[in-house]
Amino acid sequence: MATANVMTSHQAESPYESLLKRFNAAADILGLEERFRKVLSVPEKVISVQLPVTMDDGTTRVFQGFRIIHSTVMGPSKGGIRYASFVSEDEVKALAGWMTLKCAVVNLPYGGAKGGIIVNPVERSEGELERITRSYTRAMKDVFGPSTDIPAPDMNTGGREMAWLFDEYCRIKGFAPGVVTGKPLEIGGSQGRTAATGRGVMVTALEAMKVLGWDPKNVTCAVQGFGNVGSWAARLLMQHGVKILAISDVSGGYYNADGIDIEAAIAFSEGHKKTLEGFPGAKTISNSELLELDVQLLVPAAMEDQINEDNAPNIKAKLIVEGANGPVVASADAILDAKGIMIVPDILANAGGVTVSYLEWTQNLNGLYWTEDEVNREADPIMRNAFQKVLSISRKYGCNMRLAAYIVGIERVAGGIQLRGKY
Ligand code: NAD
Repeated sequence: MATANVMTSHQAESPYESLLKRFNAAADILGLEERFRKVLSVPEKVISVQLPVTMDDGTTRVFQGFRIIHSTVMGPSKGGIRYASFVSEDEVKALAGWMTLKCAVVNLPYGGAKGGIIVNPVERSEGELERITRSYTRAMKDVFGPSTDIPAPDMNTGGREMAWLFDEYCRIKGFAPGVVTGKPLEIGGSQGRTAATGRGVMVTALEAMKVLGWDPKNVTCAVQGFGNVGSWAARLLMQHGVKILAISDVSGGYYNADGIDIEAAIAFSEGHKKTLEGFPGAKTISNSELLELDVQLLVPAAMEDQINEDNAPNIKAKLIVEGANGPVVASADAILDAKGIMIVPDILANAGGVTVSYLEWTQNLNGLYWTEDEVNREADPIMRNAFQKVLSISRKYGCNMRLAAYIVGIERVAGGIQLRGKY
């Protein structure tokens, strides 16, 4: 078995180690043949590029970027691009592997990939970010393509960056809107894409509440992270009657026992450079306090490695729906299981984003565009069916929802390898 090669300082267990632990546990339950394990536990391709970029002050800086293609068995590889100072090859490798499994869990005709650039976007001007994005696109011009590898937004990237990437790619290769998803609506984006990941969190959370016999109107919730995924998940859950007692972002946590007005919080964050710092009507708490609040539903929607062996024993929520990728470290799984907590795992819960990315791509290839209702009518059942499939597998094997989701993903991709006679 491959092992992780890099560990960032804040992690007891690297994201790739977490992925492999769970992959192997699911493969054991399945009795997966060794040849499939060997293929699926390593990425197909690891690309590391150096990006020389002229800064606003005329100096040159070189940024490191990655694109890691985990699998192209089920179709072109698909996965977002992340901008952060802590991006590492190990993290991108894990995120790429999760994309393969995620696309398979929701049964999309895609493989998995992920990209990242080591850059703190807060420290860079818009012009610098544009030049970094264009430089990265030029470096990946023969990797990206509508039928080869299709990027999308992730942490600290959005429609703006996707528009630059789209433009740079088209300058080199000709018009190809299907090369990237998460584009602004005006240039081939899809209705519903911005809300899609948070919407999928809401849809799968409501399915889980049905299993638990909960009425959403009596459910209390804390949401960690208030970016694209967290803010949309909070807004849509609130619309279904869930009371959001706490939200947070990098500036800290915000708690109100009577429930936070999410529309007011979104308006505040949008008016304050995407930060909740100074948000009125809530008392401040720390991010670690938020995770341990006495709520029924916890939605970690910030980043990896938030719930670990140290704080898992203190988690009080009975349902965790993972908006973020890898928010629970594998070594905390057994602790949460023993506490009887139901977890809707990342590769299921946050698959709404890639599902609507897929719908964007099909619209781009056909040149026919849908209304938001039409998009949601396609996407919601895909998420509900995936939830039910994972639930049925967890009952069949008597395992938790996370391992069940891995089993669904692994079975589909291994089946693809078998049928194609690859390798
Ligand atoms: P984003 O950049 O829009 O928002 C991230 C949020 O998390 C911000 O509010 C930020 O302040 C906060 N944050 C960062 N570090 C934090 C910390 N240590 N504690 C608390 N808050 C912190 O990113 P996003 O697109 O919403 O992505 C969030 C997570 O969801 C990531 O794990 C990402 O991989 C995953 N995800 C995103 C999508 C998508 O479509 N955007 C799809 C699937 C999964």
